[in-house]
This record gives sequence, C-alpha cells and structure tokens, in this order.
Amino acid sequence: LSSWANVPAGPPDPILGISEAFKADKNPRKINLGVGAYRDEHGKPYVLQTVKKAEEAIRDQIPDKEYLPITGLPEFTARAALLAYGADSDPLTRGAISVTQSISGTGALRIGGAFLARHYPHAKAIYLPTPTWGNHIPLFRDSGLEVRSYRYFDKENVSLDFEGLKSDLLSAPEGSVVLLHACAHNPTGIDPTPEQWAIISDVVKEKKLFPFFDMAYQGFASGDIARDAFAVRHFVAQGHQVALAQSFAKNMGLYGERTGAFSLTVADPEEKARVDSQLKIIIRPMYSNPPAHGARIASTILGDTALYSQWESEVKGMAERIITMREKIYSLLTHDLKTPGEWGHIKSQIGMFSFTGLKPDQTKAMAEKAHIYMTADGRISMAGLNAGNVQYFAESVDAVVR
Ligand code: PLP
Repeated sequence: LSSWANVPAGPPDPILGISEAFKADKNPRKINLGVGAYRDEHGKPYVLQTVKKAEEAIRDQIPDKEYLPITGLPEFTARAALLAYGADSDPLTRGAISVTQSISGTGALRIGGAFLARHYPHAKAIYLPTPTWGNHIPLFRDSGLEVRSYRYFDKENVSLDFEGLKSDLLSAPEGSVVLLHACAHNPTGIDPTPEQWAIISDVVKEKKLFPFFDMAYQGFASGDIARDAFAVRHFVAQGHQVALAQSFAKNMGLYGERTGAFSLTVADPEEKARVDSQLKIIIRPMYSNPPAHGARIASTILGDTALYSQWESEVKGMAERIITMREKIYSLLTHDLKTPGEWGHIKSQIGMFSFTGLKPDQTKAMAEKAHIYMTADGRISMAGLNAGNVQYFAESVDAVVR
C-alpha cells in the first residue's frame, strides 16, 4: 500500500484553473482575464526595456553565480526600502528599517507572518479585508496567525464599505494585526481615498492595531510611484510602526524572477540589529537565501538615474494603458451599447483588476458562449484587454446582462 493512499485530492487553484480552461478552448476569439499579469497592446507578455538594459549591464559585470546573503542583495534591499518609504522618511534616515529580500510579494508576506507569529507580543490575530487576494488566507494561517476578517466591499453599490471597515476595526481586540492593501486593492480595484486613509490611520492608532501593508502594485495603480505609496508613507509619518511586503512582479514585470522585500520599521539601529538577526533565523531554514538575478535587475534600475526615470515612464505606460481600457469599456457599455446597469465603477476602479459586478452565472455564460474567462466573482484582469479585443468583450458583457 502506498504511503499516500489516504491523501485526499484538493481543489484546483481557483485562478490557475481558469488558465487551464482557457488553454483547452480552441476558439480564436478567446480571452483570458483570470491571471494578474500585464499584457501589451497585442495581448503578449511584456519585458520592460529597462529590464533588458539592466540584464545587459549585469551580464557584463557579474561573472559568478555565488549565493547571496540570507537577507539578500544589500543594495537591492536599501533601494527597495527607499522606493517604498521615500527619501525623507524618518525611520529610513535614522537607520531604523529592518529589511530583507524575499521570494517576491508572497514570500515577503510569509516572512512577515512568521515573524509576527514568533515575536509580536500582542494578539496573534490578523484581520484581512473581505474580499482579499485569495492567497492571503492560507498564507497567514500557515504562518501561524489566526485569520479574521473586516468588511471592505459594498456589493450593492460596488464601492468601499467604509462604515463597515471602521466598525470592524474598532471592534477588533486591541493589539490585533490588520492587513492593508497599500494600493490597487485586489480583487476589488477599490482603494480608500487619502482622507479615508487618514481616518483608518486614526482608528488603527486608537485601537493600537498593528498595520501590515501589502504593496504588490506600487506605481502600477496610478502610474505614479509616490502617489501609490501614499498610505504607507502617511502611516509612517503618523508615527505607526509598520510591516511592509513589496513585490517587483508587476511594476517591473519580474513575475517569475521572484523579486521582493519585507521590512519593519523599528525603534533605532540597535533594535534593527536584533530584528535583522531574527529575520535571518526565520529565513535560513525556509529557503537559505533568495534568488539573485531579479534583485540584481531591480537594484540596477533603482540605482541608476537614467534607468530609473525610464522605468518610471514604463510603469506609467503600463498603468495608462490599463486606465485607457477602463475608459473604453465604460464608454462602449454606457454610450455605444446602452447596456443595462451602472458601469461607472469600471472607470473609477484602480490597478490591475476590476470587479465588474457580473454574477457567477453570467461569468459562466461569458466562458461558455463568448470564450472569455474570468474568476467566478466577476473579477477581470484589465491587462488582458486591448484595442483588438475590447469591443468584443463589451459586446459579450452586453449580451450576458440583457
Ligand atoms: N499581494 C497581492 C494583493 C497580489 O495581488 C499579489 C499577486 O498577485 C501578491 C501579493 C504577490 O505576488 P508575487 O508573489 O508574485 O509578488
């Protein structure tokens, strides 16, 4: 008898399952709006020009494949922290940010979860927005935290349930951890306004909650690096200690290179040294040390003035292409097709995704009748749309809602 005879079959991953159905579909008009990876105006994966240039520079400079330190490439982590916190950040200028390279954003969240489970001295419960990125739930549970939720989305109005959010955070036990999407909330595409962030910061302070920011889309949301970092920088300026997970998957298109960083703001350099030592103790038995190539690319781009400004315009270009698609869908549905319903949210939502408001039976019909694939909750990855397929997409939405 096999040792694994009693292993039960698990459910397929909800997002990767969509890609499989998409692959099996032979219709030439098929569209995959499931996976959150950028596509260019021809629907093709996109490698940034700055990434290509950085790779050339690296090939010429770095002859070996030696291990990186446990916490990664020091120039990379320093530049990643600078990008997130900003040059005038108080903890940054005081040497009070403990930062480590991570296996992209997911790995950063996982290191953070493990660090909090081991060292956070208060309630080891983490509050996640409903809905949230699907992987947050098992990720934090597997890190050893108790997963709870706070209201975020108002289904009725396809908007932020700000009253629900405040009331749930106000009734969380003092000292709990709260996970905040720094920008481009996944899956809803709805972010708090700067005024609402200021109120959330006050609530977090009042209840002594610990803010853990997941910033997977810096620059990708608005096209502006500083603007997308507003929430993180505001909380830090308000005197909060924060945890931060950063990913370079989307804003540099480094998906498979697994390039990210985890950081904590700490009291002072002496405390930083102690926290750094514990991050190493967590990471060493997990994966020993991180992959080098993506960190070298990101570090090269962030550390070179000319490459950096070219990268800023490339990020802006990706964000703007998505914003243009939002406007196009809105105008097709509202003006051209006169599709029943209110579609303003498609235009006002931000980032890679849009919550269309399509119901599960409608998303099923989109796949079966129109060969357009999305998650059952009606979320679409805007990046999968382009000038060549947006009209067909809008007509298909129009057909399923009538
Ligand atoms: N957090 C959120 C909200 C995301 O949407 C993603 C990716 O889709 C991630 C984290 C992590 O992605 P990665 O591990 O590829 O950096």
